[in-house]
Amino acid sequence: MKRLIFLGPPGAGKGTQAKLLAEREKLVHISTGDMLRSAVAAGTELGKQVKGIMDSGNLVPDKLIVDLIAERILQTDCKNGYILDGFPRTVAQAEALSAMLQQRNEKISQVIFFEVTPEDLRKRLEYRRGAEARVDDSVETQIERLQVYEKQTAPLVDYYQKTRSLKRVDAAGTVEEVFKKLQSVV
Ligand code: AMP
Repeated sequence: MKRLIFLGPPGAGKGTQAKLLAEREKLVHISTGDMLRSAVAAGTELGKQVKGIMDSGNLVPDKLIVDLIAERILQTDCKNGYILDGFPRTVAQAEALSAMLQQRNEKISQVIFFEVTPEDLRKRLEYRRGAEARVDDSVETQIERLQVYEKQTAPLVDYYQKTRSLKRVDAAGTVEEVFKKLQSVV
């Protein structure tokens, strides 16, 4: 039973790798970004609340996202394990997750940190703007997201390193190459 966290800057390829590994290992892929985008597309109350924040590249409030995850990981399909992709993104979210799991005598099996050089990251984000045409992927939003990552999410590398659950994966290379490296550490 694996409970994994995928950590890394936007554009590191977490989402792609999470999909592949989820399929291979029969895990549920939980992407908070995808959940929020669905809410925006469906025009739900939550969607209306977060649209502007997402478009600007900022993070939605911790409480909102923690509640969303708390509800999601309780669902029966998560019994056999899951990959958290895009959550936690702040130390407060990581602490809330840890408390949530502790209550049920559960814990995270591994945190996978996707390492990528700034040059590779720039190339990937440029490619993604062209290839995926995500509505929240303008240049300004991407730059803002990177800054937010450095300030609010990067401290989680140290946070999880202290718990000894952090494994690093060099995210350079093709999707297949990175997937091989990922499989060798999971
Ligand atoms: P992503 O697809 O993971 O890049 O997420 C897209 C956007 O959704 C982010 O830029 C945030 O605005 C929001 N978001 C996703 N996950 C989180 C999270 N864990 N905490 C706060 N905001 C999030």
